[in-house]
Amino acid sequence: EQLDRQTTLLTAIINALPDPIVITDTSNAIVVLNKRAEQLLALRADDSEGRRRAVEINNLLYSAFLSKAVTPGSSGGARELNLVDPNEGTDLLFEVLAHPLPDEMARRGSFLSVLRDVTDLKQAAHQLQRQFHRERVAEQQATRERDRLELILQNVADPILVTDGKSNIILMNRQAEDLFDLTDATRHDQTMVQRVRNNDTKVTSFISDFALTKDRARRAQVSLVRPSNGVPLPMEMVSGKIFDERGEPMAIVSVLHDRTKEVENERLYEELKRFSAELEDRVREATRDLEERNIRLQWQSQELEKAYRLKSEFLANMSHELRTPINALIGYTALMLDRIYGDLTAKQEEGLHRIQVSSQHLLALINDILDLAKIEAGKMPVHLERLSLNDLLHDVAAQMEPMVKRKGLEFIVQLPAEPVYMETDRTKVRQIVLNLISNAVKFTAQGSVSISARANGQDVRIAVSDTGIGIRPQDLEVIFEEFRQVDQSRTREYGGTGLGLSITRKLIALLGGNIAVASQYGRGSTFTVTLPLASEALTSDEQVARVALAPPPRT
Ligand code: ADP
Repeated sequence: EQLDRQTTLLTAIINALPDPIVITDTSNAIVVLNKRAEQLLALRADDSEGRRRAVEINNLLYSAFLSKAVTPGSSGGARELNLVDPNEGTDLLFEVLAHPLPDEMARRGSFLSVLRDVTDLKQAAHQLQRQFHRERVAEQQATRERDRLELILQNVADPILVTDGKSNIILMNRQAEDLFDLTDATRHDQTMVQRVRNNDTKVTSFISDFALTKDRARRAQVSLVRPSNGVPLPMEMVSGKIFDERGEPMAIVSVLHDRTKEVENERLYEELKRFSAELEDRVREATRDLEERNIRLQWQSQELEKAYRLKSEFLANMSHELRTPINALIGYTALMLDRIYGDLTAKQEEGLHRIQVSSQHLLALINDILDLAKIEAGKMPVHLERLSLNDLLHDVAAQMEPMVKRKGLEFIVQLPAEPVYMETDRTKVRQIVLNLISNAVKFTAQGSVSISARANGQDVRIAVSDTGIGIRPQDLEVIFEEFRQVDQSRTREYGGTGLGLSITRKLIALLGGNIAVASQYGRGSTFTVTLPLASEALTSDEQVARVALAPPPRT
């Protein structure tokens, strides 16, 4: 009875244990199971299909484990065994502690196995391992990130430095080292050491000022020097705070950017501005000067115009005043020569002749001067009309014929075969041709005087030739100047005022044409006038300009 009680007690104890306990015999057959082991390994009458299968699998797994692990004679040890929870269907992991039972209790080869459930433990270990692995990966990533940052830092062209909460430099790139770090090369040179120190002081004082503020970033300009050569380095410095997870600033990153080029550009820009202002001043001054000169010129031109007008008025008045008495002279001389006032002695007649010739010369001179004055003042009226050149030349030839014949010269007139019509000033063309023919007659003792004309595109060419005394090459230009007579000694011989060709050239210019002369000294001369088929009406200013700018005669 006592034994029974002990057995019941023992059974109660093993059944109370949370770990499955199994006793196997020498053939590895299960002999005893406690309650927990039964749940895993023993089939019951009311088992569900799922549970039954799970228990069968567990038995297979357990016996396989035993045949492998618990060899006869072994002193036992911890081995892992996988089973299935028949109720839950989940995997379970056990650590099996097998103890050989003493001989007196059972036959040799019997084992007591305690299965310790380590499922949760293993899971925890797995999780730990995974966690550990994750951390290692994160650490590697962090290292890689740091290397990458380091690479960037070293390769950024701008100096970068990082300072801690006490404004001590804790990290800088090579570019920053050049400015703020003593190297072996600089350490021994006092000036270089001083330069590095100055740079450092400037930058760290800026940073510590910034650190005291609540600002997150700050930008400023600092003047540093390159330690190696003392060259000034105007820098722009941008600093930003780095905060820890509690939001406390833990470091300051500062990037410096060399502003030398900008400073130089700014300087150039300023210089340019100054230069342009100077230029503006000068232009303004010059403009003022020009304005003054303009005013002076305007005043002068007004004065000139006034003088011109006065001259023209004077000449007009004077020529009228002069012509009246000369006409009286000419008139009365003619009367006297006609013996209206009685008979004349030969001497008286000769004297009167001289008076007549001189008065006529004077009258011609005054008329010429008046013409010139009018042309120069732009007051020579130009009356354009449509006319037949053939008719005009025919009339002029008829008018001149007696004069030519009187000198015993041949008069050759060659008019265009087809009638030529012009839009021009009849009186002026007449005057031009008359002047040239009378010169030709005047300077020709024998031979011929010829006139020819032909249309040539938009122009008409009228040529007057003679077989007279001719003109020396050096005189060809001057004969068109006012009061120029080639040979003063011959003036008396041929008469004339020295204004004829000058007036002729100006009249031709007024009509938009030009004159050329060709001559062989002692052989004769040819004056060729080119006139446009249609002349244009000009204002008095245009007349003045055209006459003043008339091209020199072409030879
Ligand atoms: P002038 O009243 O003296 O003829 P012009 O102006 O008509 O004045 O001529 C100027 C000078 O040109 C003349 O004095 C003369 O020396 C020279 N001249 C003009 N036409 C001829 C010509 N057909 N043959 C030679 N010389 C001429």
